[in-house]
Amino acid sequence: MTAPSTRRSRLVVLAGPTAVGKGTVAAEVRRSHPDVWISVSATTRPPRPGEEDGVHYWFVSDEEFDAMVEQDNLLEWAVVHQTARYGTPRRPVELALASGRPAMLEIDLQGARQVRETMPEALFVFLKPPSWDELVRRLVGRGTETEEDRARRLETARGELAAEAEFDVTIVNHEVHAAAEDLVALMVPSPTDL
Ligand code: 5GP
Repeated sequence: MTAPSTRRSRLVVLAGPTAVGKGTVAAEVRRSHPDVWISVSATTRPPRPGEEDGVHYWFVSDEEFDAMVEQDNLLEWAVVHQTARYGTPRRPVELALASGRPAMLEIDLQGARQVRETMPEALFVFLKPPSWDELVRRLVGRGTETEEDRARRLETARGELAAEAEFDVTIVNHEVHAAAEDLVALMVPSPTDL
């Protein structure tokens, strides 16, 4: 971990390029640190095999997403990979923070930039692949996307890698458990400070 800052926060925003393994690291945090609250995003993309509504995402229609935006129910939202909309429901984040639990958002770069505007006290963590080749290997290995979709995601990833400097801390995702531990170490357990 390159951690020039010793700053910690009760709200950690995890971002990084597509296929770097943000979802896997978040799942490892969920497994090994059930005390950490992890936001469930709303998305207009259809579920992949094995994904459950309310667990991995809230799978919503375009109309439902429109309503969430109109009612200002989202802390941030973005169109990701030029295909679907993703957003963080605001109220659950507020409730988690009010209850004193460390909280984490796993979102894309555009979303992280929005949260930085509204919640600058959060800690912004960039998850980075060990190398570009490894990122390509992980994206191909996942095997859930079409060729066209994969090309689009790689194009997005190139731009996203360049954003590392905007973040407070970088974690290199060599190994999922170690990355999850590095991440949790950045969270403030105390309810008194955010
Ligand atoms: P996937 O479709 O592979 O689950 O996720 C695609 C991308 O959407 C990932 O980069 C993920 O971080 C991002 N994402 C997931 N939830 C949210 C969200 O609530 N807001 C934003 N801005 N991006 C999200």
